[in-house]
Amino acid sequence: MSGDVADRAGAGFRRWYDAEPAVRWAAPGRVNLIGEHTDYNDGFVLPFALPLRTVVAAAPGPDGRWTVCSELADEPVEFDAAAADEPGRVDGWAAYVAGVVWALRAAGHHVPGARLAVASDVPVGSGLSSSAAIESAVLAALVDLGGLDLPTDRWPRLAQRAENDYVGAPTGIMDQSVVVRGREGHALFLDCRSEEVEQIPFDLDAAGLAVLVVDSRAPHRHADGEYAARRASCERAAATLGVTALRDVPAADLDAALARLDDDETRRRVRHVVTENQRVLDTVALLRAGRVRDAGPLLTASHASMRDDFEITVPEVDTAVEAALAAGAYGARMTGGGFGGCVLALVDADATDPVAEAVTAAYAERAFARPHTRTVLPAPGAHRLP
Ligand code: ADP
Ligand code: MG
Repeated sequence: MSGDVADRAGAGFRRWYDAEPAVRWAAPGRVNLIGEHTDYNDGFVLPFALPLRTVVAAAPGPDGRWTVCSELADEPVEFDAAAADEPGRVDGWAAYVAGVVWALRAAGHHVPGARLAVASDVPVGSGLSSSAAIESAVLAALVDLGGLDLPTDRWPRLAQRAENDYVGAPTGIMDQSVVVRGREGHALFLDCRSEEVEQIPFDLDAAGLAVLVVDSRAPHRHADGEYAARRASCERAAATLGVTALRDVPAADLDAALARLDDDETRRRVRHVVTENQRVLDTVALLRAGRVRDAGPLLTASHASMRDDFEITVPEVDTAVEAALAAGAYGARMTGGGFGGCVLALVDADATDPVAEAVTAAYAERAFARPHTRTVLPAPGAHRLP
C-alpha cells in the first residue's frame, strides 16, 4: 500500500460510505525488546511501540449496527448487536472489530453504532502485533465517538478480552499494553503479575543508535502446539518447585531450583525463564542509566537462551542474528513467540544499511526467502489524529 496510512483510512471511509469520517485514531505495532515467554510465567517484558501504525477512520452509524471495511478485505463486513454479543458469530478479520464491541458491551458500556474504515502499515502475521493495533484503534475510535467514560489505562484489558474471548487467541496483556500506552523515546517495562507499567527512557536517537527489525519470513511451523508445550512445561516445573509461577524463582536461587528438577529438558526451560526475567531487569537498569549500547550483550544472551534452552528459534532467525552480529550489531535477538517472526538488532544509526545488507546476503547464501528489513525508533502508543 502506498501513501500515508491516515490518508488511506480517510479515503477508504469516503469510498465505502460516501461520507466524511468524524474521528481518526492511530494505534501502532510493537516489538518486544527483551523478555520472551516470561509473560505467562508472571514475569517481566520490555516492549516498545513502532512507527508503523493502524489507523481507523470512523463516524456514528445506526444504533446497534457496525460496518467495517479494511484495505486488506474486498468488502465491508456488517454485524449487529446480537452477533457482537455471541463470541465467534463474526469470524475472519472482522472478529477483531466485533470482539472490541463485545468487550465494551460486556463491560456495561453503550457502544455507539458506527461505520469504520481501517488502513494499516503494520504487516499482518509477522509478529509485530497488527492484531493489538487494530483492536486498540477500533476501541479508541468507539470510545471517542460514544463519549464513553473509559480511561486509557483500562483499554489494554478490554482489547485483550476481544482477542482472547471473542477471536479466541490466548495471548497475554503485553501487546495491548504497549500499543495503547507506548511513548516516543521509551520502552514500557511491564510486570505481567501486577500489570504495573513504567516508562523507561530508550532514546535511541540521542544515543546515535537504531533498532533494525528483520522479518524472517519463516513460516510459523508448529508454533501453536510448541507454545502450548512450553507453557505446560513451565507450569509443571512451577508446581514441582512449589511456587505460583516461575517468576517466583529469583536468579540467585536458580541452581538450587534446577537441582530439584529431574529431567534435563525441564531444567533448560526453567533456566530460560529465570535468566530471561533477570535480563529484563538488567536491561531496565542499563537503560535507566542511559547505557543503551551496553544492553546489546543482554539481547544476544536472550537469543542464545531461546535457541539452546527454550528451543524456539529456527534457522532463519538464527541466521539473521549471526549475520547482524558479524556485521557489527551491539546485540541481536529473535523477538516474539518463536518459530519464525522477527529479529531485532541494536545498531549504530549510520550502520543500519550495511547490517541489513549483511542479513540479506546471509539469507541468499542459504536460499531463504528474502527478508524484509526496517529501521525503527520507539514511537507513541494509540493517539487521536486531527
Ligand atoms: P500479528 O498480530 O502478529 O500481526 P495475528 O495473527 O495475531 O498476527 O493477527 C493478524 C490478524 O489480525 C489478521 O489475520 C487479521 O485477521 C487481523 N488484522 C490485523 N490488521 C488488520 C487490518 N489492517 N485489516 C484487517 N484485519 C487485520
Ligand atoms: Mg497478534
